[in-house]
Amino acid sequence: MIENILPKTLKKVVDEISNLPGYGEKSAQRLAVNILNMPRGEAFQLVKTFMEMLERVHPCRECGILTEEELCPVCSDEERDRTTICVVEESFDAFAIEKTGKYRGLYHVIGGRLSPLEEITAEDLNIDSLVKRVEKDNIKEVILATNPTVEGEATASYIYNLLKNKNITISRIAYGLPFGGVLENADDFTLSKALEHKTPI
Ligand SMILES: [Zn+2]
Repeated sequence: MIENILPKTLKKVVDEISNLPGYGEKSAQRLAVNILNMPRGEAFQLVKTFMEMLERVHPCRECGILTEEELCPVCSDEERDRTTICVVEESFDAFAIEKTGKYRGLYHVIGGRLSPLEEITAEDLNIDSLVKRVEKDNIKEVILATNPTVEGEATASYIYNLLKNKNITISRIAYGLPFGGVLENADDFTLSKALEHKTPI
């Protein structure tokens, strides 16, 4: 029996993909094999698109939403309500809220959630910058729109405790969103309702 017949570069790709959160060895293998099975032209185009994304996309200087500009379209829009910040875990949560067309304020992407299991602490998240924005930018309301999961709730209450003495209104979206769900997967109606029925905490 020949050991290690797995091609070295394939193994390296699988190892590197399985380091990503949410990817185990099996799903990493599937992704690598799917790419190898693509027509080579399309596969190279995919890799080129990845390279372009890596070169161009970065967090907005103000709010952390992924953008190709220095400031994202929300931060650079003069029409937005600049006294309200909606706090989300990831950019895609903000994109989902934007799609409802119901929210006119600004965002703040903290870049994840507190997770003792994954050893993610407050220092790993963009929470300091949120507190600074609240202190210097004349913010009147903060809406905590972290996911309605155990970790999302813990993150929201952590942020609430940091901001509760800052003389602002703090709300938490809740209504209509299933507990244990993910914002990104919610339909527009559910998400609109959740925003409409945000409750001060
Ligand atoms: Zn921005």
